[in-house]
Amino acid sequence: MGPKRDYYEVLGVGRNATDNELKAAYRKLALQYHPDRNPGDKEAEEKFKEAAEAYEVLHDPQKRQIYDQYGHQGLEGTGFSGFGGFDDIFSSFSDIFEDFFGFRTGRRSRSRAQRGADLRYDLKLSFMEAAFGTETDIEVQKMEICSRCKGNGCEPGTYPETCLYCHGTGQATRTQGFFTVQTTCPSCRGNGQVITNPCSKCRGSGQVIARKKVAVKIPAGVDNGSRLRLTGEGEPGLYGGPPGDLYVFIHVEPHEFFSRENSDIICQVEISFVQAALGDQIMVPTLNGKKKLDIPRGTQPGDIFRLRGEGIPSLRSRKRGDQIIQILVKTPTNISKKQEALLREFERLESKKISSKLKKILKSGVESSTG
Ligand SMILES: [Zn+2]
Ligand SMILES: [Zn+2]
Repeated sequence: MGPKRDYYEVLGVGRNATDNELKAAYRKLALQYHPDRNPGDKEAEEKFKEAAEAYEVLHDPQKRQIYDQYGHQGLEGTGFSGFGGFDDIFSSFSDIFEDFFGFRTGRRSRSRAQRGADLRYDLKLSFMEAAFGTETDIEVQKMEICSRCKGNGCEPGTYPETCLYCHGTGQATRTQGFFTVQTTCPSCRGNGQVITNPCSKCRGSGQVIARKKVAVKIPAGVDNGSRLRLTGEGEPGLYGGPPGDLYVFIHVEPHEFFSRENSDIICQVEISFVQAALGDQIMVPTLNGKKKLDIPRGTQPGDIFRLRGEGIPSLRSRKRGDQIIQILVKTPTNISKKQEALLREFERLESKKISSKLKKILKSGVESSTG
């Protein structure tokens, strides 16, 4: 057998073919090369198998993704190895063949395949890494398909044997009075097969513990509690089942100057009371270096200014949030005699402006409380 053809090419569809397009393409080929129509034709048989294999992979989102990413080689790691013969093909697609040809294939597929478990990894990021994204390698401990037995659990050269108790059905039948009860076979636990010569490396489990490096691309804008899913990077599946997923949970370390609310960043800037009263232009730190900020005359403590677009990119829209600057006004301490004299004079002028209004309020307050 030569090298495998590209699955999309086999079915004659584009790489972004929909489920319906795949089904239609496969249906056409299956009808054309069906063994009933081409008795004894070896080439038709190969084409029929090839189409079935391509469809089996592409109509399964998990397998399709693995194939798109890693090609035929990627699927070897999942335990998928194509079909042995027509029986396999008919049992895998019994539902499809039923609508294609109007008959039900005798054998019902006994699906042993189990999806692998999902894994969790907790990843700590600096404030800046979370804001702008980063790429990093993480090391995950997980099960891996045993290299010695290729996952079937048998010593090389030996094979699983059909369970003698259930004759491979995986089901045990028990008669209870008038009833016949079907249970999972206790001898093979429903597998239909037993391993008499377990692999010496994995002791028959088909999997071994391994540490694997996984490259993770962190998009800009992730925050505490963000969760990234790496499809297919979880535990491998059992008996040809698809692998689970790896979930990376993000933890962001606090920044010394900035805090964060969604895609806005918040900081506090201290100015003198003279700057607050007379206005000034100051420099404030931003995620992209220093920026000028105009402080208008008469700025009050707690006033808020916004630097548009200086925040963090939003994960959804990629639009950057704002930087929100909260103003703190510093009250001077350790003032000199001369400064005090100036402040007293300032106070005298200031109180003149408000005294008449204040007097009026104080007077009305006194009257209402005594009257
Ligand atoms: Zn093994
Ligand atoms: Zn059994």
